[in-house]
Amino acid sequence: MQEKKNRGSLFIVSAPSGAGKTTLCKKLVSALTNLKFSVSYTTRHPRPEEVNNRDYTFISRDEFKLMADKEEFIEWAEIHGELYGTLKKRLEELMDSGVDIILDIDTQGAMQLKEKYREGTYIFILPPSIEVLKERLEKRMMNSKEEIEKRLEKAVCEINSYYKYDYVIINDIFEDALKEIEAVIISHRVRSKMINPLWIEERFLK
Ligand code: 5GP
Repeated sequence: MQEKKNRGSLFIVSAPSGAGKTTLCKKLVSALTNLKFSVSYTTRHPRPEEVNNRDYTFISRDEFKLMADKEEFIEWAEIHGELYGTLKKRLEELMDSGVDIILDIDTQGAMQLKEKYREGTYIFILPPSIEVLKERLEKRMMNSKEEIEKRLEKAVCEINSYYKYDYVIINDIFEDALKEIEAVIISHRVRSKMINPLWIEERFLK
C-alpha cells in the first residue's frame, strides 16, 4: 500500500525572543495532527517548568562541542552565550516517519537550514511593535535589565532578516496569529506536489 505522502515537511519558525513563538509552536502541535516539535540540544540550564528531552535535550558545553565537531548537528548557533543545535539524525528519522516537523530556531540556524532544505517552509513571527516586545520581556521577570537590553538588540538584528522567510505573521492577538500559522501549514499540506503519484495511481488509475 502506497502512502499518500512520502516524507514529512519542515516548518521553520523564527522570532525575536518575546514574540510568543514558543507558545505558538506548542499550541500548533496540540491543535494539528501529524505535527511534531523538533527537540533541540542546548547547553543552557533548564528553566523550572522545562523537562529534559521534551523542551530541550540539556547537555554540557563539552558534549555539545564534541557533537558539533562530529557534524552531528544539521545546524547550530551560539545565542546569548549558550549553544543550541538540531540533531541531524533526529530530524531525518522524524521526516522519514512521515510526520511534519516544526522547528523553533533562531535566524542563524534557519539560514543554515535553508541551504540544506530549500523545500522547507520558513515562517517569521513579529511582535506588534518594539514597545510591546520590551513590555513582554519585562513581564517575564526572569531577565535582568541588562539581559533585556541584549535581547532587544538581538531582536532588531533578527527582524532585519524577515524578508528571507516565506511568511511573516504578526503576533498581536494570539488566536489570530495561531490561525494564520495553521493556515500556512494546512495550505502547504494540500499542495499537489505533496501527493505521492504512486498513491494516486494505486487508488484511482489502476
Ligand atoms: P530559549 O533559550 O529562550 O529557549 O531560546 C533562545 C533562542 O534559541 C530562541 O530564539 C530559539 O528559537 C533558539 N533555538 C532553540 N533551539 C535552537 C536550535 O536548535 N538551533 C538554533 N539555531 N536556535 C535554537
